[in-house]
Amino acid sequence: MSSNVEYLHKIYCITEDSFINAHTWTTSSALITVCPNDSLHMVQAGSAAIEDTREQRVSLVKDYNNGVSSGKFRTQSLSLDVAAASTGSIITSWPYPVRIYSTDIVSFVGDIVSIYIGQSTNVGLLTANAGIGSIIITVEQSVIDDIFVGAEVELNEGATTDDLGVVLSIDAEGLTITCSIATVNSFTTSASVLMTTVICKDVEIADPKMTIGRSLLGSTLIPSGVQIKLEYQNISAAARHVVCYLELIY
Ligand SMILES: [Zn+2]
Repeated sequence: MSSNVEYLHKIYCITEDSFINAHTWTTSSALITVCPNDSLHMVQAGSAAIEDTREQRVSLVKDYNNGVSSGKFRTQSLSLDVAAASTGSIITSWPYPVRIYSTDIVSFVGDIVSIYIGQSTNVGLLTANAGIGSIIITVEQSVIDDIFVGAEVELNEGATTDDLGVVLSIDAEGLTITCSIATVNSFTTSASVLMTTVICKDVEIADPKMTIGRSLLGSTLIPSGVQIKLEYQNISAAARHVVCYLELIY
């Protein structure tokens, strides 16, 4: 997350007889000079102003249009050694955006693999207290901007973290999200909403050369600096050497 500020501009449109907000947020603080709905509308001189500001955010999933720079293809491997009857993990990220097209895991039948993007990323705060047993939580705009139905959600405040399961629905106007698991602790407006994007979770390996994602048209955008984590559970009595190949465009 960058600390740059984004602005939402507005101007009074005489043609429409009301203030009209710009249709997109911008990093420019320069006031607008024409009506966002139609540059031919008459606008009130001196009425342009900044309606709202926010911290510039990287959308983890929704920003499909944020392209990668060169379009070059590359394959890279991630490998890890996992001791008998234990779980190991490896984390990587890139200092520029990449798109992952497919993931091949050379592994062992019966073991269990999970791949997460941006595990437990802080996407914003609660804006109302959430008591024990809450399924609907009230959140700030940044959470609504980043979260999506199916995303995994946790609430964290100090040493307390609750797993709220996945997002079932989003009310973008009421600024609430409905989750699949109720809170078991109570949280205040100091609590952070943590989001995880799951590529696969607790998938039992049935083929020692498992491919994920090749049948899906398109790709998964990984913004600069966002971590991808491979977690591998070795259920056997022997040590395992696991290799994961990532095909990506950068
Ligand atoms: Zn207008």
